[in-house]
Amino acid sequence: MRLAVTFAGYGGETMSASQNSDVRTLLVKIFGKDRPGITAGLFDTLAAYSVDVVDIEQVVSRGRLVLCALVTAPTVAGADEGELRATVHSWADSLKLQAEIISGTGDNRPRGIGRSHVTVLGHPLTAEATAAITARITSLGGNIDRMFRLAKYPVTAVEFAVSGAETEALRTALATESAEVGVDVAVVSAGLHRRAQRLVVMDVDSTLIQDEVIELFAAHAGCEDEVAKITAAAMRGELDFEQSLHARVALLEGLDASVVDKVRSEVRMTPGARTLIRTLKRLGFQVGVVSGGFTQVTDDLMERLGLDFASANTLEIVDGKLTGRVTGEIVDRAGKARLLRRFAAEAGVPLAQTVAIGDGANDLDMLNAAGLGVAFNAKPVVREAAHTAVNVPFLDTVLYLLGITREEVEAADGADAEH
Ligand SMILES: [Mg+2]
Repeated sequence: MRLAVTFAGYGGETMSASQNSDVRTLLVKIFGKDRPGITAGLFDTLAAYSVDVVDIEQVVSRGRLVLCALVTAPTVAGADEGELRATVHSWADSLKLQAEIISGTGDNRPRGIGRSHVTVLGHPLTAEATAAITARITSLGGNIDRMFRLAKYPVTAVEFAVSGAETEALRTALATESAEVGVDVAVVSAGLHRRAQRLVVMDVDSTLIQDEVIELFAAHAGCEDEVAKITAAAMRGELDFEQSLHARVALLEGLDASVVDKVRSEVRMTPGARTLIRTLKRLGFQVGVVSGGFTQVTDDLMERLGLDFASANTLEIVDGKLTGRVTGEIVDRAGKARLLRRFAAEAGVPLAQTVAIGDGANDLDMLNAAGLGVAFNAKPVVREAAHTAVNVPFLDTVLYLLGITREEVEAADGADAEH
């Protein structure tokens, strides 16, 4: 269970009167080997003193427990604090646990303003990287109020709940730091909106799938080299996307339409893609794809994966042959952002509650228009311009950026398998 409160700032002597009432309180900390019944035993012991619970938090790591209970001081006639301390210590001793009791006043110190979730993905997550990231948070005035692991597989993902620092400043500083120490860091502002993100739109080539669909067609047409040359020219900025699309599609003229089925069967999903989509759908998200590739492939993906939206360019087919032309509205860089807005409108989801994922320069407008833009194994120019970057080749790591744990994903899969 996750609580939105922290003991990190507890200490009666440092709290101001305006922040806290002057009710005397006791912080009861229990350490030791975890086993069933400890919480019930502690509160049963405390119940004899008629104290009220102000806050509870517990962490168990490798079978070792740290249980913190913040309670009001005893008010029962004749029962004093010293007696409560002695009773708790003797109960703890009987279970070979350690207890510490700290007197103070009022509740925990309120968390600082400016709250963010910082997700760190490591493959592996080194102590050095963790030191660098957390030191940077501190240098910006941030306090880490809570930390916990989101996943151990396929990456180690941890989340820090940070207060006292501007989200934007954290994002900028941690982007630089994370690139230096070789981990991925996502910073999102805390609040209900994070749980309300309801539409995810993905690029297809080199994002949802590992391939570039035009290259799969080119292999069948025997024009891979020519297509690769045009792609390279476009990447050097000599051609814009639309020019390069027309030039590459023209090379497919005369190709038999039966190749479409072959290309569909050759498409390789990115690891974690199915897990990502399945989990998002379970959570009630709508999921769409936008592609500078072709509807001949995206329509098939939409059906196979149960997607809600798909849009791409369409290869013209006449008399069973590709004509070397595309029909309809061109999906380019601006088109992808336009489609994100259109899907959001159709889904009834505000743009701020959308997530976009992509790898190319073509995706940048869409990534920046979304509430959260994720550069997925992207080129440096895209990585630097996006809100956040994932540089491990597993698409389901995006779930961790949304605060979803691996455990929750696996529990949902397990529950489904039983039915
Ligand atoms: Mg792409």
